[in-house]
Amino acid sequence: MPELPEVETIRRDLESRLRGRAITAVRITPDTVPLVDGASLAAFARRLKGRRIEELSRRGKYLILHLSGGLYLVVHLRMTGALLHRDAAAPADRYVRAVLSLDDGAELRFADLRKLGRLRLAGDPEEVVGRLGPEPLDAAFTAAALKRAIGRRKAPIKAVLLDQRALAGLGNIYADEALFAARIHPLRRADALSEAGNRRLHRSIRRVLRDALDNRGASFRDYVDGAGREGRHQFHVKVFRRTGQPCYLCGAEIERIKVGGRSTHFCPRCQPQEGT
Ligand SMILES: [Zn+2]
Repeated sequence: MPELPEVETIRRDLESRLRGRAITAVRITPDTVPLVDGASLAAFARRLKGRRIEELSRRGKYLILHLSGGLYLVVHLRMTGALLHRDAAAPADRYVRAVLSLDDGAELRFADLRKLGRLRLAGDPEEVVGRLGPEPLDAAFTAAALKRAIGRRKAPIKAVLLDQRALAGLGNIYADEALFAARIHPLRRADALSEAGNRRLHRSIRRVLRDALDNRGASFRDYVDGAGREGRHQFHVKVFRRTGQPCYLCGAEIERIKVGGRSTHFCPRCQPQEGT
């Protein structure tokens, strides 16, 4: 699933191409009713048509198109969704569920193999994204802000990092990578982290996300950027999906366990259960 670095890469790719463009036509495949969450396809298309795209922002894993007239198109890519900026004459993409035609002859295509992604229209994006935790790359996100966000939770730290209401934007890849970088065992209780551990985790979350952004995201399976290209960060992960392979730091075998139902990868030597 695209996480913060992947969605932010798409946002940066699309912003310059979409800003100022008007939506001239909207096509949604009729078998994709859940895509617009119960809204009628015709009404959805009618509300979009003629609007100008003023700005693109991101909140957590949501991409938000700011449209003229105070409307927002909120995109959640979920497992396999992709937003592709193409010339209208470009060859068809697979699994396209929706197409927004633009006034410069380009198209924004929403492709989604598993049909889990969602497009929602709202007068206020918060109606769609709900109550999310702080943005880990914001300047205001200090070590103290991390402690406020997660420091009272009794659940395993890995599960808390995945909770979007605690912290926005982290998913399975970057939660595992951040905990490894901070040398924190994924089953440690969030409220048991020391001051030093909290500071290491804060630094690690930001560094891991920035590195992934520099590599244009991770393409383990389906993720592609706004032009359909894969990211490179899958070649740079330290623990994620490296089960049984040697740790780059100490040589111990990377292990996999389940935490909160999610596969979790860690180094048993670098991330001891009784660490600080
Ligand atoms: Zn190690």
